[in-house]
Amino acid sequence: MSVSLPILLVIALLAVLVIGRIIASPEAPGRIAFGLAAVASIWWIAMVMLRFNSVELSDKILFSWLAWFGIVATPLFWSAGVLDHAGFSQVTRRLPITIMLTISGLAGLAALTDAYHQWIYTGIINEDRPSFSHGWLFYVLMGGMYLFMLLACLLSISQLKRASRLHRRQMLALLVATCVPWGCNAAFILFEFRLFDDDPTPFAFSATVLAVLFAQHRGKLFIAPPIARDIIFSILRDPIVVLEPSGLVLETNPAAEKLPGFSAETVGSKLPSSHPLMAFVAEDTLTETRKPIIHFEAMKKTFEVSTQPLEHWGRRGNVMMVLRDVTAREAAQKSLSDAGEALKLRLEENLRLQEQLEQQAFQDHLTGLFNRRHASTVIPPMIANASEDAPLALIIVDLDYFKQVNDRYGHDVGDKVLSVFASILRDSLHGADMAFRYGGEEFFVVLPATTRDQALDRCARLRSALATHSIDELKDFALSFSAGIALAPQAGTSLAACAKAADIALYRAKISGRNTDIVWGEHLDGIVREGTVPQDNAADHGDPGARPAHGAVSP
Ligand code: GH3
Ligand code: MG
Ligand code: MG
Repeated sequence: MSVSLPILLVIALLAVLVIGRIIASPEAPGRIAFGLAAVASIWWIAMVMLRFNSVELSDKILFSWLAWFGIVATPLFWSAGVLDHAGFSQVTRRLPITIMLTISGLAGLAALTDAYHQWIYTGIINEDRPSFSHGWLFYVLMGGMYLFMLLACLLSISQLKRASRLHRRQMLALLVATCVPWGCNAAFILFEFRLFDDDPTPFAFSATVLAVLFAQHRGKLFIAPPIARDIIFSILRDPIVVLEPSGLVLETNPAAEKLPGFSAETVGSKLPSSHPLMAFVAEDTLTETRKPIIHFEAMKKTFEVSTQPLEHWGRRGNVMMVLRDVTAREAAQKSLSDAGEALKLRLEENLRLQEQLEQQAFQDHLTGLFNRRHASTVIPPMIANASEDAPLALIIVDLDYFKQVNDRYGHDVGDKVLSVFASILRDSLHGADMAFRYGGEEFFVVLPATTRDQALDRCARLRSALATHSIDELKDFALSFSAGIALAPQAGTSLAACAKAADIALYRAKISGRNTDIVWGEHLDGIVREGTVPQDNAADHGDPGARPAHGAVSP
């Protein structure tokens, strides 16, 4: 028994191991074809072993003929497996497999009947081995198988670049597994290269099965097949489109076929220049932080568009666009910003109301002038700032016979008179001057840095302004006022003292016939002599002090 027999036996056993692992693997591309190739190679090896074991030349020739079932089937199915594994799954559909089985069977039959036609072997060159001279069918079959293997290798190599590292390792192992026996076979046919004085191809299958076992063990061949990439592209819910600058659609995934302007037939046709996606053909927007947004009203969806130029993949000018459905996100953002806007409006309204409240706290609502409370806050510091050189004039202005206005024309007309008078007061103010409604029809006018004469002059101007104002409702009634003027610090250094002094002066103006202005401290003797303060003018004035009791008016 020659040394080649145990070697062939080991190779056959390893091939059985490969088949076992293929069967144990889940559905994976190429496994049927690889399995058939392994079976065919075991047949081939078995025939070679039987031939080695034969003594009779006729037996040797018979096993050489029988080997042809495996000689043709092995490279055919192997190449189909390599192609399937590289993504060309069409080659392992039922029809191509049937064709390959038929070709292998016919080749075997042709070999078995070779004695009659001599299409494969034309004669015996060496009876020991035996070796033959070849007929035309031999070359046709060899040429066909070599071409098919070449095609499988080239297509597999073309897929190497886009494959992941693991799958690249698997593909390289398969290429090695293809090329070693192929090279040996070519060397045998072309250069008479022999192993154990015979065709080295069956022996070279040891490299094949070892490479496959390595790929199965280290490269997870059949366990992690390279099928996911195409599946990802197909099942991805994000539409993906590859466009040429002209708008020619090169590729779409099923999700993209649902976009407006797209269908299953769109690949190969041109998008109109008006299509929203055409705006992104020339741009690389992938690096931008905020990606452009497209809204398709027809499908009521909003997409974020990422574009990726395919120059790196050898497709200059082509752009891949990935559209991410952001409809829900945009809607959430909109409702958030709407809520924010509503909140902002409410906040502004609250601030306005707060301002209004604050305003109302120191403003008289009828006249719009500052109220009495505000007077007690702001006037004291103004008095404190007054000096002999720059005195402050505090004037109490009181409308004359105002009760009669109410009585004759009604309370509403009285109100109108009050607000008209308040606006006359307001118009008369300059610089740091201030006016207050102190109560009823009494007003405070505060004039910082104002002399006696200037204060009297201001009252005279007010009087003439009031005279020029006609109020339609007031028929046969001439409005007038009386004023009492106190100058700080002479009249006092507190609001209470100054208001008391001004009130005394006002009282003096009233009793001296009204429609006049009196400065506190002038002609006081007259007041004292003229008797007590009338009860109706003795209203309590709060903090600044009450109307003076008779005899308590000394400066
Ligand atoms: P005198 O010349 O002495 O000041 O006489 P008078 O009538 O103006 O004085 P009196 O103080 O007796 O009357 C003040 C009146 O002002 C009494 C009150 O009804 C009226 N009055 C006070 N506040 C308001 C108001 O807000 N609106 C109206 N319409 N009248 C008011
Ligand atoms: Mg009055
Ligand atoms: Mg009064």
